[in-house]
Amino acid sequence: MDPRKTPLTCYHCGNTGILTYVAQFNVDDIVIDKNEYGQVIYEDCLGFLKWYLYKCPVCENPVLAKQYEGNCDPPNCINDIKVIYPALVITSKGVPPKIFQAYEAAVKTRGIDNAICLLSLRRTLEMVCKDKNAQGDNLEKKIDDLIEKKVLPEMMRDACWIVRQCGNEAAHADDVEFSKREVDEAIEYVSSIITYLYSTPVKVADLRRRIEERQKKQKAEKQEQNNVDGEENNG
Ligand SMILES: [Zn+2]
Repeated sequence: MDPRKTPLTCYHCGNTGILTYVAQFNVDDIVIDKNEYGQVIYEDCLGFLKWYLYKCPVCENPVLAKQYEGNCDPPNCINDIKVIYPALVITSKGVPPKIFQAYEAAVKTRGIDNAICLLSLRRTLEMVCKDKNAQGDNLEKKIDDLIEKKVLPEMMRDACWIVRQCGNEAAHADDVEFSKREVDEAIEYVSSIITYLYSTPVKVADLRRRIEERQKKQKAEKQEQNNVDGEENNG
């Protein structure tokens, strides 16, 4: 995947396309094992983290992206280029596509129309409630229901209240001016709700599986080494 030819989205303005490539540098992902005397007994480069800086040709703002290229597990794996700044905050992993699209659409309007962005975030929250089968005839009751059923933690109650209020104000009052800070925070709250409900469980299960596989492999290698040592001693 050529970083100069990969379409990316600028979350300042919502433009998706080839962004103007500015610069790149790599950070090595190195593991070092030392013995009790502090001498390096093992060193391995697991991969590289590549950072790319772009300029959005539409709004002229900076976009920072990263890409992980691993040497192992599996070898030569190259991950997709991911936009880190401006943050979309959530990943699509584990998130129902409809909810991800609604959230992404909301974030794309953040630099364009704050009221529409807040309305769209409220809509995303409504879709989450529907997906989780929340009971109640309005959004407030549905969120209470999810908290009561412990689908959502109690600490999210205020975050949901803020998103709901901002969305209501955006829908009804033309004369309310929303600050960039309010919009950014509402985005952050909705993203943490989506991450908590959908992405984190999938990511945790994924990482657990990888660690277990690695441990199994190490155990098998150790067993094999023991067998070889045993044969040498016997022979
Ligand atoms: Zn842009």
